[in-house]
Amino acid sequence: MKFATRLIHGSHSIDPATGALSIPVSQTSTFAQKSVDHFGKYDYSRSGNPTREALEEAVASLEGGSHAYAFGSGMAAISSTLMLFAPGDHLVVCEDVYGGAFRAMTKLFSQWGLKVTFVDATDLDAIEDAIIPATKAIYLETPSNPLLKITDLRGAARIAKDRGLLTIVDSTFMTPYLQRPLELGCDIVLHSGTKFLNGHSDVVCGFAVVNDEKLAHRIRFVQNAFGAILGPQDCWLTLRGLKTLKIRMEESQRSAVRIAEWLSVNPKVKRVLYPGLKSHPGYETHRSQTSGPGAVLSFELEDYPLTKKVLEGVELSAFAVSLGGVESIISYPARMSHAAMPSSERTARGISDTLVRFSVGLEDADDLIADFARLLT
Ligand SMILES: *Cc1c(COP(=O)(O)O)cnc(C)c1O
Repeated sequence: MKFATRLIHGSHSIDPATGALSIPVSQTSTFAQKSVDHFGKYDYSRSGNPTREALEEAVASLEGGSHAYAFGSGMAAISSTLMLFAPGDHLVVCEDVYGGAFRAMTKLFSQWGLKVTFVDATDLDAIEDAIIPATKAIYLETPSNPLLKITDLRGAARIAKDRGLLTIVDSTFMTPYLQRPLELGCDIVLHSGTKFLNGHSDVVCGFAVVNDEKLAHRIRFVQNAFGAILGPQDCWLTLRGLKTLKIRMEESQRSAVRIAEWLSVNPKVKRVLYPGLKSHPGYETHRSQTSGPGAVLSFELEDYPLTKKVLEGVELSAFAVSLGGVESIISYPARMSHAAMPSSERTARGISDTLVRFSVGLEDADDLIADFARLLT
């Protein structure tokens, strides 16, 4: 079955008990048991819930994985995955990692003895050079947030495999429709399902996906022991949002290509960061490991007053944090997604005060361009 068909008719597309085309919301905390000796498949909703299981199986199948685990947010998925590590363990992490992941690693897990080294992961030699005897994993985001830098996932996974390390990839920007890191040799795929997977700006959720029985058991143990699970109602909403993933991604991506091209010839725009532009340094690598550039782009404006004018003046895009909704969202990494990063770190990474991130929604591209044109001419 091809991807679009799997979105509709993949695992658990019909309720096995009633034939309902929508999986019921099993809004329960506990499940009555019949026997003292043999408990049923479900006993308590932290450990397992039918609606969550349907969503987890759907996401695992789309990523080409054996198991997926749903969490109460992307950060819960990331933090739960970081709990696989022990004091003294070391991770090599891409330098423009999501601000919340940066905060969890440097402010929270550091207290528990986890060590991290940030590297420019577009350079495989830099990844290799940062590996020390205590290194347990390479943690990547490609395209990265908000600079849309591209890491060669096959190359990074090869470096990791040779040394017995895990490769962890936050694939939020791409979704499994455009990029499936497990098929490229990576071990754990993370998502903020809040973004494109659910796609309707009405749920906060996250996923960890693997294709290995042992690793699956380790993450499942954390999910149950730490307990940062996704509730049944949000699982149901995400199952519903997921069905239109392909058409949403296709349409938003088509508009993103047009908008990126339009911005890149605008004299007030200093540079456009989008892996769909041939001028992007990661263009070829990105093409070799995905089936499209996605619907998020960043651009740098000529000065701060113009940046402020655009952020506050756009009418068709919400000025907000987040991305991947049906509504276009314009955001300001320096004060939003990357506010948790000290300004010196931000500057060193190239996240300037005139950088704007744009997540293209489902509005007509002509209207979105006209909205920008008003402010950029
Ligand atoms: C939003 C985001 C996260 C965090 O997810 P939440 O659902 O907000 O907790 C992690 N990684 C990336 C790339 C994101 O865009």
